[in-house]
This record gives sequence, C-alpha cells and structure tokens, in this order.
Amino acid sequence: KPTVIVTIGMAGSGKTTFLQRLNADLHTKKRPPYVLNLDPAVSKLPFQPNIDIRDTIDYKQVMNEYKLGPNGGILTSLNLFTTKFDQVLSIVDKRAETVEQIEIFTWSASGAIITEALATSYPTVIAYIIDTPRTASPVTFMSNMMYACSILYKTRLPFVLVFNKTDVISHEFALKWMEDFEQFQEALQRQDDTYMNSLMNSMSLVLDEFYSHLRVSGVSAVTGAGMDEFFEKVGEAVKEYENDYKPDLEKRI
Ligand code: GDP
Ligand code: MG
Repeated sequence: KPTVIVTIGMAGSGKTTFLQRLNADLHTKKRPPYVLNLDPAVSKLPFQPNIDIRDTIDYKQVMNEYKLGPNGGILTSLNLFTTKFDQVLSIVDKRAETVEQIEIFTWSASGAIITEALATSYPTVIAYIIDTPRTASPVTFMSNMMYACSILYKTRLPFVLVFNKTDVISHEFALKWMEDFEQFQEALQRQDDTYMNSLMNSMSLVLDEFYSHLRVSGVSAVTGAGMDEFFEKVGEAVKEYENDYKPDLEKRI
C-alpha cells in the first residue's frame, strides 16, 4: 500500500519547496508520487500535481459569489472540494502519494474529513514543516511546538517534524532543546520574559510527552540534504500507524 504524507506547516515554512524536492527524489528512486494539491489559493506550483483542487474550484469566484475574504474563500473552497472527495479517493490508488496543504486545513472540518478519509484507506503520516531559522528563538520555538503538539493530538496520526532550511542554520539547537528541557529553559530565561517562563514551566510535562511521540528530521528542501533520513523517519512512522493508529481506528469504526 502506498504511504500518504500529509504536508502541513505555517506559511513560508517551505511546504511547496519541500514537496518539489520530495517529488524529484521519489522520481529518482523510481517511486513516482501521486500528488494532491489542496491549496485553492496557490498561484503557481513548481511541480505538476496529479489532482489539483484548482481544477474544479475557482477560489476567486468562490470569494466573489459568497462575498468572502481570503480565509473564508479558502475554507469554503475546501468544503466544496470535500463533497467530491470520495471521487478523489477512488482515483487515488496503488501509488505513493503526497498531499500539499495549507494552514487552515488543519483546523477545518473539511481538513479533518479529508485526513481521516485518507488515513482510513492508507498508511498516513503527517510531515510538519518548520522554518528552522525563524524558530531559533525560544519563544517562537515554543509556539511552533505547541501548535504542532495540538495538531498531533487532534489527528492522532504519526508525526515527523521536519526542520527545514538547514542550509541556513543547523537544527542542532532544536534537538538539544527537545532532548534536555533544562537547556531550553535556560535559553528562555536569558530572554527574561516572566510570562513565557511561567507558561513554559506549566507546559514542560506536556511538551516532554509530545517529544516522546515524535520523530525529528532536519532537511534543506533547497539542497536536498537530510532527505534520506526523512524517508527513514517516514518508514518508522508507517510502522507506528500499523501498530497504534490502525488498531485504534478499527475499534472506532
Ligand atoms: P510555503 O509557503 O510553506 O509553501 O513555503 P515555500 O516553499 O513557498 O518557501 C518559502 C520561502 O522559503 C521561499 O522563498 C523558498 O525559496 C524558501 N525556502 C524553502 N525551503 C528552503 C530551504 O531549504 N532553504 C532555504 N534557504 N530557503 C528555503
Ligand atoms: Mg506553498
């Protein structure tokens, strides 16, 4: 069975570039992926998706028709697309595929429906892309981890944290902070932010638990460094899907 890699992350973290890299690497490995683009607002993609929400839904027209702003337009487009997702699922088959996503996806009902539909049929793994240079301060690191943590608990799917842009700055600092909470707290204390420090203290157990559930990899979507390790982590995450998620899913349905 093909593996579904659901790619999410904040705007600018490098999702599109990462998918372009993933796409190229999988072609080189003679395992061409099946690519779904679920972002109705993206203007141009550097690769050709197999299924593209933009082919069936005109985001600008949705905005005009329903008198919506950009976020409402994305959400409504996604809702409209979700009503057709059973057709999409029937097309997606027997190939490894990747899903390109958008931030809103994670929190919308449609996003949850699409993710669950995929996870019911295929081993599904979340790749959460992080902009490493922009998360090098303890406070942004903290908020990024809390965001990732809430997505993990919402989807319950195996997770790979992808520290991207390691050509700019190594993700060593992040590994250290995740391994040793005291080092992270020391970095935070140097910032002398009392509010963040006390929030951190109360979050430390939650984050420790979260870290124990993840796999971490550092990549550069631009140079391709670290991609082999990423593929290894995806393999481990698929095992977790088979051992933990799937039995649980069968209990639920
Ligand atoms: P998206 O909004 O998450 O889809 O992010 P994009 O893929 O559009 O990337 C945002 C910006 O980060 C672009 O200017 C990319 O060229 C840049 N970028 C993405 N990946 C890397 C990387 O690995 N290294 C560096 N240096 N820049 C990157
Ligand atoms: Mg993008």
